[in-house]
Amino acid sequence: MIRVMVSGANGRMGREVLLALSRDPECEIVAAVDLKTAGEDIGEILGMGKSGVKVEPDLEASILCHRPQIMVDFTHPKAVVGNVMTALRNGVIPVVGTTGITEADLAMIRAYCEESVATCFICPNFSIGAVLMMRFAQEAARYLPHCEIIEMHHDQKLDAPSGTALLTAKMIAGERGCLKQGHPGEEEKIPGSRGAEYDGFRIHSIRLPGYVAHQEVIFGGVGQILTIRHDSLSRESFMPGVVLACKKIIGHKGLVVGLDQLLGE
Ligand code: NAP
Repeated sequence: MIRVMVSGANGRMGREVLLALSRDPECEIVAAVDLKTAGEDIGEILGMGKSGVKVEPDLEASILCHRPQIMVDFTHPKAVVGNVMTALRNGVIPVVGTTGITEADLAMIRAYCEESVATCFICPNFSIGAVLMMRFAQEAARYLPHCEIIEMHHDQKLDAPSGTALLTAKMIAGERGCLKQGHPGEEEKIPGSRGAEYDGFRIHSIRLPGYVAHQEVIFGGVGQILTIRHDSLSRESFMPGVVLACKKIIGHKGLVVGLDQLLGE
């Protein structure tokens, strides 16, 4: 059994993770951490009756008490790096879904993992369809380098652009290099109307109730448009990826980024 703790256990994603892990015969939830619901039993939060695992408010104290192998983190962009470092310092492998981690944070976590021979998995998108969407977009950028990304999320999301959009943009830029798109004399009548610029192309973030997590990558060529789109229609779409990561990351060393690194093993 893999001993897993869930940080952000009472959030929208955290509750789905508790449910998915509780159904997996190879995983055991040994601890749950969240800020507001400390003291509540996770089974009762899920409406499944008492489980004996109570939500605790302090990550480090919870790690020291329950000794998990893995910490799944779906918390807050401002909390995640601190949580990752707390887990790493205590010999726990972070499996991180929280977005908003910067390139500088990644470099720092990578360096720490190398120095201390530790393992960390960071995944901006746990759904297999989104991983394929990113792969296909990367491939398309070799032949149709002019593109824009539109990502759509629910209106409670805190960071923009999404981690998925940023990873997609990085993968596209790696294929096509910097290419300044659009008319050189282009003028924004309202600042920001053309979206955020990444290596010469644009990323647009839509936040509306009703959406879960969606992304389109649109490629334009002479006389043609290619649209690659992925829709996560419910948070369940992320769960097979989370459970797979908890199992497959054991045995890896260093910082691993993205679900595609673990698929097909
Ligand atoms: P959410 O509903 O706000 O849940 C976050 C939970 O974490 C809340 O219960 C929050 O408590 C708690 N929390 C905040 N800081 C904490 C800390 N320091 N320690 C422990 N718990 C803490 O958010 P969500 O919709 O579940 O999303 C969480 C993150 O996952 C976001 O960054 C989102 O973008 C990301 N996400 C990633 C994927 C993926 O595939 N990688 C998919 C969907 C979402 P309070 O309410 O008291 O603040």
